[in-house]
Amino acid sequence: KVITVQTESSRYPVFVGNNSLCKINEILHSINPTTICIVTDETVKALHLNTVLDVLSDKFSYHIFTTPIGEKAKSFDVYQQLVDFAATKGLDRKSIFIALGGGAIGDLTGFAAATYMRGVEFIQVPTTILAHDSSVGGKTGINLQTGKNLIGAFHHPAAVIYHLPFLNTLPDNEKRSGFAEIIKESMIHPQSFLNELMNQFQTVSDLHGEEFFKPLIQGLETKKIYVEQDEKEMGVRAYLNLGHTLGHAIEANVGYGKITHGEAVFIGLIFALKLSEKVFLKDLQISNFINWAKKLEYTTYLPQDLSFTKLLNTMKRDKKTVSGQIRFVLLNGYGKPVLKEISDDTILATLKEWKNEIA
Ligand code: NAD
Ligand code: ZN
Repeated sequence: KVITVQTESSRYPVFVGNNSLCKINEILHSINPTTICIVTDETVKALHLNTVLDVLSDKFSYHIFTTPIGEKAKSFDVYQQLVDFAATKGLDRKSIFIALGGGAIGDLTGFAAATYMRGVEFIQVPTTILAHDSSVGGKTGINLQTGKNLIGAFHHPAAVIYHLPFLNTLPDNEKRSGFAEIIKESMIHPQSFLNELMNQFQTVSDLHGEEFFKPLIQGLETKKIYVEQDEKEMGVRAYLNLGHTLGHAIEANVGYGKITHGEAVFIGLIFALKLSEKVFLKDLQISNFINWAKKLEYTTYLPQDLSFTKLLNTMKRDKKTVSGQIRFVLLNGYGKPVLKEISDDTILATLKEWKNEIA
């Protein structure tokens, strides 16, 4: 299956399937690069690099750059090592980068491609479920000590190749992490597909690579809808941040790497549902949703030792905050996202009620 993403500045195919990897030679032939730089992390290298090299036509010459795993790949140091490596290997403006890995590898490689010699092309080969979100849309970047994704550029890939068998080696928490973003998308898609997900996935063992074919397509289509309308996030693209205001604050306060991004966002989704019910006086069937989530072994409550004031202060530093008022993406019903400023009092009161419910 191919989805074509078209924005003002670019147009590229996203291939999703059980044998998508075979597309790689076709794409490379059409670009005809002088050299290829494959960027991957240690884990993905050990698991999947050989599969890629076996498929790659021997017409192309390549170099391999390996990074540490997780957020460490998105450091200034690793970025510098990568572009130095490219220069040392003689990559020119007609060379191409290939990101083989999760969102961290995609963000780093995309940013290197955006900046090396003022921009070269790159291809995304995502190996996590989460990376369906990061590989499409053109946001690339690295982290500073002071915060995540503070240095970056918009740079779209020439193509995205989603080879589903790669997903089968993911540990359960990484599957849950990526699936949380699909659940988020199911809630903001104009024809919400949350019920379909709830029917299809009943236990952790359902979280299997091939099972994700349809949900990934639906998730990618949701991303496409909002990115195509609003490439630079001036408006509706912000809906993709449902669950992320509290999610990011949880990640920052628990500590990056101690909880996966998607599992933190998942807790943020529940909070966004609670706020939405309060603001729009609609029944969003939250207890149904939570019971389902428990079967998939999601954490469905706020980690106990987090201070509400700390969370609130972290949320105030969010890029979406306007003059001190925190803006949330809420749902005026499933499929109907809305941006809304919420007062500190309402936020704190809702957090407290939630804590009392669990106690
Ligand atoms: P990741 O790349 O760190 O991958 C998560 C972990 O899974 C890593 O330890 C990795 O080694 C391992 N892994 C990857 N593929 C595997 C496989 N097939 N089998 C077994 N293990 C595998 O991160 P992620 O969770 O994919 O993405 C998170 C990153 O994406 C964050 O840095 C986030 O900021 C970024 N992101 C960017 C955007 C965007 O629009 N650019 C959107 C969402 C998230
Ligand atoms: Zn996210």
